[in-house]
Parts: sequence; C-alpha cells; structure tokens
Amino acid sequence: MDKIEYKLCPKCGTQSGSDAMFCIKCGYNLKNEPVKVHVENGLFYKHEITGKVLLFGNVPTQYIAVGPVLGRVSFNSRVNEDYSQHMEKLMNKIREIVDVNELDGVANISITTSSLAIDGIEKVSLIASGDGIKLR
Ligand SMILES: [Zn+2]
Repeated sequence: MDKIEYKLCPKCGTQSGSDAMFCIKCGYNLKNEPVKVHVENGLFYKHEITGKVLLFGNVPTQYIAVGPVLGRVSFNSRVNEDYSQHMEKLMNKIREIVDVNELDGVANISITTSSLAIDGIEKVSLIASGDGIKLR
C-alpha cells in the first residue's frame, strides 16, 4: 500500500517529516501536530502522543469495528468560507471521544454539513460519524 507519513504545518501548509519538531520552511513548532498518513483509500491521521487513529476511509484489516462514534462542531461562517480550520477542531473533538471510549481510533468517518444562511452568515454544523476501531 502506498503510504507517506508527514506533519502538516498549520501556519504555512508545508509538509515536514513525521518526526519533525519544527516546520522545515517557517520554523513553526510542530511538536503537538498529529502525524498524517496518506493511504490509497482515504486520509489517515495518527495522534503522536496517544497513537489514536482517524481514518477517512474503510476500516483497515488490522482493526475491528466496535461501534459508531459521533463528533460535532457548530460555528457561524460567511457563505462559501473555507471550513478547513474548523475541520481541525472537529478532529480534536473526535480525538477526545476516542480517548474517552478507550478505542484505538475511528474509521469510515463521514462529514455532514448543514447550514441556514441569514444576511450572508450561515450556521454550520460539521457532524462526523464513523466506526470505533480496535486493533485485532
Ligand atoms: Zn511552516
């Protein structure tokens, strides 16, 4: 399987190695940034400290699915605003849930957005649902 581990700089967007402490371009402290892994059928996040896994894709064969997990983040936004910064909050929310449930991670995550625009400002809810996973 094609797999590349890296850390993504939240300040400048540059990819550094998975063990990098600082961004190779701007020097931003990456110590607490999660390791991200591109896999063939989705995007895979591995939290450096807890080792928890978040996977936008199928449950990998080394894991078994043990039940659904939900995370939700709501915020106000201008219409057509880039949601990527809120995605990171959603990731943190899911990480909390994964820790509480003593799972090894979550897979099959799907994101649902719902919004209602009033005067160009919309109320957005990002709802992530997926399967809790444990190592076999
Ligand atoms: Zn950077």
